[in-house]
Amino acid sequence: MRTNFSPERLEANSLLQEVDAILRKCVHCGFCTATCPTYTILGDELDSPRGRIYLLKDMLEGDKPATEGVVKHIDRCLTCLSCMTTCPSGVDYVHLVERGRIHIENTYARPWLDRATRNALAWILPHTNRFRVAMLMGWLARPLAPLMPRSLRAMLEQARRPPQGVRQIERTGVHSPGAEGGRAPMARVIMPVGCVQPALMPQINEATVRLLTRHGVEVVVPKGQGCCGAVVAHMGKEGDAKDFARANVASWWMEKVSRGVDAIVVNASGCGSTLKDYAHLLRDDPDFAEKARILSEITFDITEYMTMLGLMEPVEKPELVVAYHAACSLQHGQKVLDAPKALLRKAGYEVREIANAHLCCGSAGTYSILQPDLSEELRSRKVKTLEDTKPHVIAAGNIGCLTHISAGTEVPVVHTVELLDWATGGPKPQALG
Ligand code: SF4
Ligand code: SF4
Repeated sequence: MRTNFSPERLEANSLLQEVDAILRKCVHCGFCTATCPTYTILGDELDSPRGRIYLLKDMLEGDKPATEGVVKHIDRCLTCLSCMTTCPSGVDYVHLVERGRIHIENTYARPWLDRATRNALAWILPHTNRFRVAMLMGWLARPLAPLMPRSLRAMLEQARRPPQGVRQIERTGVHSPGAEGGRAPMARVIMPVGCVQPALMPQINEATVRLLTRHGVEVVVPKGQGCCGAVVAHMGKEGDAKDFARANVASWWMEKVSRGVDAIVVNASGCGSTLKDYAHLLRDDPDFAEKARILSEITFDITEYMTMLGLMEPVEKPELVVAYHAACSLQHGQKVLDAPKALLRKAGYEVREIANAHLCCGSAGTYSILQPDLSEELRSRKVKTLEDTKPHVIAAGNIGCLTHISAGTEVPVVHTVELLDWATGGPKPQALG
């Protein structure tokens, strides 16, 4: 694609140089449109990756303030990155749309309700205890939902049950192998506990620790770590995203240099994608760039890490059919495709492939709140393809997908790691009764 940034602006701004290089890779072939969830539903070129690339090009090239039209189509993007998997030219769409969102945040005055909703989400979601309070209030306010605006109703729909209380697992500490009677210690890893996950499904972190310690790995929950920053990054709040990243890098670096760490093992793939991109996010920060690069390189999804370790033989062979939902952040963001299914099969489950597995379930961070209609449509389509396989249980590797999909089906929905833990000696996942 031909671009027309002025040489002076390019010379003065390395961020624009990156945008220019990304745009130049696009050859307008349109292959990406076929696999874009929003284009599949809406059929509008401006709601396809190629259409959005043109909108972003026009806005960023001309250094124009964002318009209502641009914001509408960029807001509808799920950041599912299905387009990046499809693109034959290797267009780095994620960093282009990220730059576009920052520009929108800096130049566009959103209507007050939209602004207030976004600010509230950015203030609440990254902090577990604020989220617990909000979830409790939302749960109590559910009877009033029909009287509320659509975006507030969508928020209340997230609070289908009261929040889970504080569990030991989210506190700073070290979990050593031995308590599970497993092998001798063979590695030491950091586990980010997440921000909303402990309030929604604390059993995921508990299952992760049991699984890792049973395989001889010491698990550290270090002091000072917090939200990965994905929530605010997706809303174009670059400064806040960098603050979260710096706090995590500082915490993990301290642990790495003081006591030694082999890996950072993540069980929420949305967070994993963000952590693996810290090297890019902090690349211009002289104090953090190198540390972020080193830590990004040792960050793994739990299924990647368990594949490297080698899953032990199952002690229990639950005869269950599993419909596996591939979270976009795992399959498109991290390119982890087969590891979760291979592990589940090794653990004795029958894993069934679903149709259109590349399409998003509609969760996408705050998307289910900010774009509730599109989100619900995508969930209905996803649930149908999952239920078509006649599963006993649905498994996925991301908290957002788990809560979103479970609101649309009667089939139990669990994290992949809960099934792996169960098969190798842990308790039965509570969603299975
Ligand atoms: S597939 Fe890639 S090169 Fe083709 S239009 Fe989409 S982004 Fe551009
Ligand atoms: S990230 Fe997903 S929703 Fe956004 S343009 Fe790409 S395929 Fe479409």
